[in-house]
Amino acid sequence: MPGLNGPDQAATDGLSAQGVFFDGRSSRDHPATLLLDGDQVRVRLGAQTEHHWRADQVTLEAALPGVRRSLSFPDGSRFETPDDVVIRAWERRHGRNRLLGGVRRLEGSWGTALGAVAVTGAVLWGTVTFGIPALARQAAAVTPVGVLATFDRETLQVLEDQNLIAPSGLSAARQAQLQSAFRDVSGWAGGPYRYRLLLRDGEPAGGGGMGANAFALPNGTVVMTDQLVALASSDRELTGVLAHEVGHVTHRHGLAGVYQALGLSLIVTALTGDVVSGATFAAAVPVALVQGGYSRAAETQSDTVAARFMLERYRTTRPLQAILARLEAQEGGAGGGPDLLSTHPGTEARIEHLRQLEDAAR
Ligand SMILES: [Zn+2]
Repeated sequence: MPGLNGPDQAATDGLSAQGVFFDGRSSRDHPATLLLDGDQVRVRLGAQTEHHWRADQVTLEAALPGVRRSLSFPDGSRFETPDDVVIRAWERRHGRNRLLGGVRRLEGSWGTALGAVAVTGAVLWGTVTFGIPALARQAAAVTPVGVLATFDRETLQVLEDQNLIAPSGLSAARQAQLQSAFRDVSGWAGGPYRYRLLLRDGEPAGGGGMGANAFALPNGTVVMTDQLVALASSDRELTGVLAHEVGHVTHRHGLAGVYQALGLSLIVTALTGDVVSGATFAAAVPVALVQGGYSRAAETQSDTVAARFMLERYRTTRPLQAILARLEAQEGGAGGGPDLLSTHPGTEARIEHLRQLEDAAR
């Protein structure tokens, strides 16, 4: 709004704060001064260098107790300061972050502590009931591919450390056949992922073991156990399973599951004032990926992907139906463990869905 913050007003409404500036290209910080004059936001680095932005170009991170205030700028740079008083004065003037400021004031007052608990409970209930699954899917869809490799690597590390998987006992020739089948599936699916098939013994000596199973990690790593290979009566069955797993990759179900599992704890952390620890987050990811299982909707979506591949290649979804039924018989429908053994939706419903997709293609 030009005119509201003219130069005359700027002279009387100047606020300043000391802090550090990150240029967005390196992690190095530079001592800097933040100058807030009306609609002008300036960051001064020494006597020579100064950056200018308009107030509406600045993103202000939410105020969390014990965390430095952070202002982000359109070019990826940011300014951080412990001087919360100045930032709050500026926020009040610009009407920013009213909601989060309210949460913080509630925390600061014993008199309203009980009210804060009630509000927190209501917010959590609402978020869990309606918000987190949708938010988690959104966050998964926009996560840069470069981040995904870490998820795969750390999860595999945990599985190996816990002796849940070990090198495959399959012959080199058999492994080559299965790798070739996987290349067909992953080439068909496409996308920016680093697809690779890891054949592994799912019941290492002395380990808990996951038995006959297969699962996918966010960046395209698919693990299939020797026990599942032994259970299959044809390679079409295994290819169907691989296509299902690739569906979890392209729809980013694993990542959404991680965000969903961690979303609640992140919100609790923010409201109780603990500083979110990157290390804690990283440690929780493999656990969420492996133990989380997928939603009913996610399994159905991946079965649809598998059906599309199988109908193109084989004109039938029956091989996948057959191996799902055999798994169910073997496990007695007990469920538990990653992906293929998860209980939702029930195997019967999945087989029926695959049958319908085949009928619809005729
Ligand atoms: Zn699945």
